[in-house]
Amino acid sequence: MKSICILGSTGSIGVSTLDVVARHPDRYRITALTANRNIDALFDQCIQYRPEYAVVVDADRAGVLEQRLKNTAASHVQVLAGAQALEEVASLPEIDTVMAAIVGAAGLLSTLAAARSGKSVLLANKEALVMSGQLFMNEISRSGARLLPIDSEHNAIFQCMPAHYEAGVSPKEARRILLTASGGPFRETPIEQLERVTPEQAVAHPNWDMGRKISVDSATMMNKGLELIEASVLFDMPAERIHVVIHPQSVIHSMVDYIDGTVLAQLGNPDMRIPIAHALAWPERFESGAEPLDIFSIKRLDFEPPDESRFPCLKLAYDAVEEGGIMPAVLNAANEVAVDSFLSGRIPYTEIAPVIDHCMTHCSQNSADSLASILESDREARAISNAYIDRNF
Ligand code: NAD
Ligand code: MG
Repeated sequence: MKSICILGSTGSIGVSTLDVVARHPDRYRITALTANRNIDALFDQCIQYRPEYAVVVDADRAGVLEQRLKNTAASHVQVLAGAQALEEVASLPEIDTVMAAIVGAAGLLSTLAAARSGKSVLLANKEALVMSGQLFMNEISRSGARLLPIDSEHNAIFQCMPAHYEAGVSPKEARRILLTASGGPFRETPIEQLERVTPEQAVAHPNWDMGRKISVDSATMMNKGLELIEASVLFDMPAERIHVVIHPQSVIHSMVDYIDGTVLAQLGNPDMRIPIAHALAWPERFESGAEPLDIFSIKRLDFEPPDESRFPCLKLAYDAVEEGGIMPAVLNAANEVAVDSFLSGRIPYTEIAPVIDHCMTHCSQNSADSLASILESDREARAISNAYIDRNF
């Protein structure tokens, strides 16, 4: 029986993880759940799954949750408050597996804590890896932690890698990675109409049901940009060997092209419970709850190269990974500010890329070798992006 901590249990990935875990009570015990502010959802999860710990980042709301849990079937739950408590639960000695499913840079420290304490780290929080890159991989190898990718593309690539594949070591026989992308909701929208798209249109993804931030990232294809950086770190591949392929049906979740001409692909319905179950059961397999793929209902599989003028964020991500060092962290921070600003109506959709571009050209050249300098660059990039938005909008 393994004990699991789900960082970000009230989000889209968190809820899907609970769904899979609940199908295998003989394999997993839920020990810790965490939320930022959503105590209604966390209260229901505490009643249903009876963890030992529940973390709420917002301290006032943590107090409210504690009160509400009194005299319930989950009165034993220890409610912890504040961001520091995320790191505490991620490194508890009784925990074997940590699902890192907080969105954005907010998940960096707790994801790193899980890596440092040698857990099986199920990584959904791609922003944490984009920000900390090699530092994160060093923590994994130093502690002997196991890293299993949850992002559907990276999980697919992992499944297509040779059996001897080791996290962070490029397999020589893999020529290139074909990273698939749906193209999001605006793949065919006339470019001149993009300026007027609303947050509601941007978060309505054609194939996947996800949190709001990653949905906007999918529309701009910055999600693919972050995934490009994620793949380059996880699989130790230079950007020129990672090719983005638009595949609107989202049936193939990515491919590995080998030197002998073999191309291995992983297929499945677009349901995040598949990569989640894969990582939870690895190296075995168990039921995920996802519908089996009906191969006859797939009429066709299309592939096309991405159009740079439609998706300028993708080019910015290639620039960031080629420049290396601190640039991926800067790109990530500027993108978080730009997406937030778009979602709150401060900037139009078409200004997301210019904000990031401006930030990348104006930030300082910090090193990416220490957590302190990564966090400093994250702060600086947010300040530059916010100042630019304040000046222009
Ligand atoms: P979401 O917005 O649905 O959920 C985010 C979770 O993080 C919530 O539990 C929330 O309480 C918590 N959170 C938010 N801000 C926080 C903060 N400041 N401190 C602590 N906790 C905070 O997001 P999601 O769609 O589940 O995505 C989570 C991560 O997984 C992201 O990094 C995303 O890129 C990645 N991912 C998601 C999907 C998907 O299908 N949803 C697919 C691949 C990768
Ligand atoms: Mg993905």
